[in-house]
Formats: sequence, C-alpha cells, structure tokens
Amino acid sequence: MSTSAFADHGTTVEAATRTDSVIELDGVTKEYPGGVKAVREVSVTVRYGELVSIVGPSGSGKSTMLNLIGTLDRPSEGTVRIDGHDVAELSDRRLSALRAHRIGFVFQQFHLASGESALDNVADGLLYTGLATRERRRRAEDALLRVGHGDRLDHLPHELSGGQRQRVAIARAVAGGPALLLADEPTGALDSASGAAVMDLLRDLNAAGTTVLVITHDRDIAASLPRRIVMHDGEVVR
Ligand code: ADP
Ligand code: MG
Repeated sequence: MSTSAFADHGTTVEAATRTDSVIELDGVTKEYPGGVKAVREVSVTVRYGELVSIVGPSGSGKSTMLNLIGTLDRPSEGTVRIDGHDVAELSDRRLSALRAHRIGFVFQQFHLASGESALDNVADGLLYTGLATRERRRRAEDALLRVGHGDRLDHLPHELSGGQRQRVAIARAVAGGPALLLADEPTGALDSASGAAVMDLLRDLNAAGTTVLVITHDRDIAASLPRRIVMHDGEVVR
C-alpha cells in the first residue's frame, strides 16, 4: 500500500491516495512533435511487488512507455498515476521530488560519471536527500554491498567490466529505497553470462520488496519473468 508523502529541499509532496497499484495508466497516448504516436491508448496496472517485463520490437514504444511511467515525460492524453499520484496534478518541482524519492532508473549504457569511483557515483545519486556526505557514502556502501560490489568501492568505471558497471548503476538506482525500479534494456550491452547475473540481481531486489519493470529484447529473459507486457506499434497487445 502506498502512503508516500515526503519533503525534498522544501518541496512537499503530500500523501497519495491509498492504492495497491504502483503504476496505473488509463487511456494513455503519447504523440511526439511531428505526429508520431509512440504510445496509443494504453491502459495498464502494475501492483506493488510485481516483477514485469515490457517486450516488443524496436520502435514499438517501450522506451516511451518507460519514460511516461518514470514521469520523465507527460502523456498527450490519458492519466498516469504513479505511487498513487496523478502526475498531471503535480508541478514540475513536485514531480521531480516524486521521481527522486520513489523511482530508480537503470539504462543500457549505465550512465556512470567517468571520473568518479563506484562509491561516489552511488553517493551522488543521493544528493537529493540533503544528507551529509558521510551518511550518503555510508548508504552508498550498503547499496554496493547489496548488489555484490562491496569489494570494488574505489574503482573507476573504466576499471570495471560491463556487468560490474551495471551493478554500480543498479546500486545507485536502489540506494534511496525506491518503490519502483525501471530498467530499459539493462542487459542490452552485456554478454549473456553478465546479463543473466544482472537479471538474477533484479530478481533478488524484487524478492526483497522492490517493484521492478524491465524492458528487454531478450525472449529468454522475458519468458523467465512472472508477467509480460507485449507492445506492438504503440499498443499493448497482450
Ligand atoms: P522502443 O523503445 O520500443 O524501441 P521508442 O519508444 O523509443 O520505441 O519509440 C517509439 C516510436 O516513437 C518510434 O517510432 C520512434 O521513432 C518515436 N520516437 C521516440 N522518441 C521520439 C522523440 N523524442 N521524438 C519523436 N519521435 C520519437
Ligand atoms: Mg527503447
């Protein structure tokens, strides 16, 4: 159940309506400038604690869906409710606060700061909390331990393998304890063994309580997850 209410550098996001759904899309359409309808009238619900994949061919609207769910983008039509909040009712500031506190992101290309150690990359992801550096680093170390990266805290990204970099990125995404972890092709840049290990990690995080939504091209990965959302030409077909 959601009761998320929090303050972020003076920006308060009030308690949401109580709900069993962390994601509720109702009749959502996203039309890009130029007229491409990347997502068409999608209605989908994901409950707290689920582990769900989004699958579909390239260009079917998967990343657009993830950006809408991650509140990085607003729909052209329809309603997006995340963690009980209707995103249309939140200002950009409050939306940023909701995103920082409640949603973690993982991408195919890791997006780590190249000049920073694993520990600093994760600790910087907690800047929004306003916590002191020492406390942020303590929490970052905890998160890196949880993803099995506790012995390479001082390594720079270029000193790590792809799979290790993605572990750091996942540690950064979960260090603040988000309600929802969104991953866009997290294994897309990895060899199959590293990819399988990253998927095992996402399963472990889900078993520990985080809702996980993962976009994947990989049929084997998708088949191994409890629920699949199949997209084609911007529509959810199954
Ligand atoms: P997928 O992640 O499944 O490959 P996307 O959501 O990235 O699909 O893209 C869906 C469609 O929207 C594609 O036709 C793509 O070209 C288009 N698209 C994606 N992003 C933009 C954008 N920022 N501006 C215009 N069109 C876009
Ligand atoms: Mg994509």
